[in-house]
Amino acid sequence: MEDTEKIDIRALSRNELRDFFVTQGQEAFRGNQVYEWLWQKSAHDFDAMTNISKETRSMLDAHFVINHIEVDQMQRSVDGTIKNAVRLHDDLIVESVLIPTEKRTTACVSSQVGCSLDCKFCATASLKRMRNLNPDEIYDQVVAIDRQSRFYYQRPLSNIVFMGMGEPLMNYKNVLKAIEKITSPEGLGMSARRITVSTSGVPKMIRKLADEAVKFKLAVSLHSAIENKRTQIMPFNASFGLEALRASLEYWYRQTGSRITYEYVVWQGINDTREDVEALVAFCRFAPSKVNLIEYNPIDGGEAFTQASAPAIAMYVEILEKNGITVTVRHSRGKDIDAACGQLANKA
Ligand code: SF4
Repeated sequence: MEDTEKIDIRALSRNELRDFFVTQGQEAFRGNQVYEWLWQKSAHDFDAMTNISKETRSMLDAHFVINHIEVDQMQRSVDGTIKNAVRLHDDLIVESVLIPTEKRTTACVSSQVGCSLDCKFCATASLKRMRNLNPDEIYDQVVAIDRQSRFYYQRPLSNIVFMGMGEPLMNYKNVLKAIEKITSPEGLGMSARRITVSTSGVPKMIRKLADEAVKFKLAVSLHSAIENKRTQIMPFNASFGLEALRASLEYWYRQTGSRITYEYVVWQGINDTREDVEALVAFCRFAPSKVNLIEYNPIDGGEAFTQASAPAIAMYVEILEKNGITVTVRHSRGKDIDAACGQLANKA
């Protein structure tokens, strides 16, 4: 059988795998054994499945492939951040990042090759969307970073953010399937509370998440709470709009009781006035939330965007705090290797 005719075995559920063994005249429990090799042990090769007979391994090899990612290139920043260029089975590349702090290791993973959206400040936007990642390609990025964390920092991965390349809610089904595997005892068994899905704000999909009562956290890249400014920075805002976003976030909070994080970059001459902060304060009132002010990292071709001055950031902090809104100023990590927020563009 030609490789092109084989299917990726990891697209099969446990039950489908059990059924496959039955159709081959074998016992269903073999399906469980293979499933464990594929997910708990992340086997890359049928030959690694040592409790499966050689004949059965050859039979599997005749029907299936295991489409695994490969970490093609790994760069380490002076601050300990690691950026992986990850090669997919069709030779496309995405990036994922390990961010260590004193107590935690966070994985920042990609959900699409390129991105469906067109944020003006973002390096990934220049790549356009080539395709969505499969659940296993997302899962594999997490496994690779967990291994790096154990090797370089002697501790397992503690947190995951979907903030790499792509808009996770534009690859809704696969992102949810990947999270299901990450949190399942059959996969990595991580707590959903340690996972944050960061979206640029797709109202219809936020409502869908709320209806599914997901347990992970939600972050929204807001960047402006003034309609025309947000559209300038994130042109897709013209189709969705702040009012629809606000209503979807209120709905999210009503359904899940989970506080929203707003990711927000302050740029000089774009959103650094008192009026901008006041609009943000008003937006934060709609549902319990906190604000992360993120340091901006210049990208090639993004000359219109420069980091706001220290007094402008201080003004944001002061006004937000005065209004009882929790605010954190986040300094970017891995700048020297283009691994910081908005810088992922396969430049390695
Ligand atoms: S910021 Fe996120 S949603 Fe916007 S273009 Fe970049 S990757 Fe896509």
